[in-house]
Order: sequence, then C-alpha cells, then structure tokens
Amino acid sequence: SKKAGRDQVTFFTDEMGTAAKARDLLEIELARGIENDEFVLHYQPRIDVASGQVVGAEGLVRWMHPTRGLILPSDFIAVCEETGLIEDLGRKVLEQGCEQAIKWHRAGLELDVSLNVSPRQFSDPALLETLFRLANLPDFPLGHIELEVTENVLIGDPDAIAEKLKAITAMGYNIAIDDFGTGYSNLAYILRFPLTCIKIDRSFISQLPSSGPLVQLIISLGEQTGAMVVSEGVETHKQLDWLRKHDCAQAQGHVIAPPLQVAKFESFLAKGR
Ligand code: C2E
Ligand code: CA
Ligand code: CA
Repeated sequence: SKKAGRDQVTFFTDEMGTAAKARDLLEIELARGIENDEFVLHYQPRIDVASGQVVGAEGLVRWMHPTRGLILPSDFIAVCEETGLIEDLGRKVLEQGCEQAIKWHRAGLELDVSLNVSPRQFSDPALLETLFRLANLPDFPLGHIELEVTENVLIGDPDAIAEKLKAITAMGYNIAIDDFGTGYSNLAYILRFPLTCIKIDRSFISQLPSSGPLVQLIISLGEQTGAMVVSEGVETHKQLDWLRKHDCAQAQGHVIAPPLQVAKFESFLAKGR
C-alpha cells in the first residue's frame, strides 16, 4: 500500500541517517585517537619452519580505546583508508614499528620486522620521506624491515610503481606481497616487481591438504624467484607438518602464537631461546 511504501522510505532514510552518523562519529573518534596515540602495535612471531626458531615479527595495529577497550583493525582500517586518516595512522605505525625494531636490534636480537602498508598509504607521496627519515635513524636495522603490500597496492601504472618500489628497496627495506593468491592481478605482472617475500594467504593454509597443489606451486615460485615464502594463519600442527614436509621456509599463525603485546612477545622469545 501507499502507507507501507511511505513507511519503508522513512525507515530507509532513518537507517541511512543513523549509519552515516555512526560513521561520522567513528571518524571523529579515530582522529582523536590517532592524535592521542591510542594505537599500539602487537607483534606476531614468524618462525623458520625447519628449525622452529623465531626469525621475525609482523606488527599488527590495535586501538586501545579509553572506554571501549581493544579494537581490532577490521573495525577501523577501512574507514581510515576511505577518509585519508590512514596517512597519519600509517605514518605512526611505521614510526612505532621502526622504533621497536631499533630497540630489539640494540638488544642484540636478530629479528625481521614486517609492517603493513595500505594502498592509500602507498600512493601518498609523503611515504618516501617518512621511510627515508626512519631509515636514517641511529641503529636502524638495515635489511631487516619489511613492508607488506597487497596485490591491490601494485595495481596502477607499472612504471611508476616499479620506480617507487625501487626507491624503497634502495633505502634498505624489503617488500613482501601479502595475502598472495587472493587478488585479481596477473602473475607475470606481479613478478616484475622486486619482491623479497611472498605471504601465502590464510585461506589456502586452512584448506590444506586439499589446497596442497596450489601451496606447492607458490613454494616453488618462491624458490625460482628467490623470494622467501611465508605461510600465514597456520592454526594446527598438521598444517605445520605439511609445510615442513613441503619445504615452506617460514610460518606464522596461532599454532605458534597470536599477535602479542611487546612484553609478551619478548617473554615468548626468551622461552624459545
Ligand atoms: P593481515 O596483514 O593479513 O594480517 C594477518 C591477520 O591474521 C591478523 O589479523 C592476525 O591477527 C590474523 N591471524 C594471524 N594468525 C592467525 C591464525 O592462525 N588464524 C586466524 N584465524 N587469524 C590469524 P588482524 O591483526 O586483525 O589484522 C587484520 C588486517 O588488518 C591485517 O591483515 C591487515 O590487512 C590490516 N592491518 C593490521 N595492522 C595494520 C597496520 O598497521 N596497517 C595497515 N595498513 N593495515 C593493518
Ligand atoms: Ca600483513
Ligand atoms: Ca595477510
């Protein structure tokens, strides 16, 4: 009926209004939280599969909200990306991650530290300046900081992307391709870039052994291109055993440890040594 139709319209606009208001509020809260340094990196260990030794850590950001507690990236990264707040947040993540890597380096720990870089952050012209400034800090662990980018980051003008990646690797950073196999990019295209590491997406690891042929293909791709292959989201000993048997170099996942706050990460390291 006409009445029902009108109600529906009203309901729809209200919903839209509420959703938009909630988003505006989140955006304001995010800007405030970034300003107040409420974002903290937790670190997930990465092991050498053959030896079981911890060889690295991925920094994963968490929002320590003063009233709402710990908030995971799935609840805020997309909004930061859409609004441009990722440029500030991303810079702070890089600073925090590099400062932590410097501390560990000074303490004599040999760790590769990986940090995530989003598409908008990668296309921000200020990224190179930030990376240059950080690489010139005293005791910066040259060759031990890796930037993780997804296939989406590499979509665009190939010459411009290659040039940017070259500038970044020339400063001493390594580049990993994250969530490998989930994007829509062309393989030959991806492999033109100077990638030092391929991270096999969790979705393929959780489907082992049926996804075995694909995982083996990625492992041999790594061997042939000289890129380190890391399996992500390893949750069971069965999966880890499969990866060891098929010569996957490194692994990361809950079967080893979840992302840990710095103090817990350090005690995890101490236990393993
Ligand atoms: P990602 O880069 O693919 O990170 C891996 C995600 O998988 C992390 O979720 C991690 O906690 C989770 N994970 C690790 N091991 C396991 C496992 O064994 N099982 C399962 N089910 N999950 C596992 P998290 O920390 O919630 O981060 C989600 C995504 O948010 C990240 O995916 C990344 O895309 C983004 N992100 C996180 N930190 C940052 C950051 O500092 N900057 C940017 N731009 N993005 C970030
Ligand atoms: Ca990542
Ligand atoms: Ca990933």
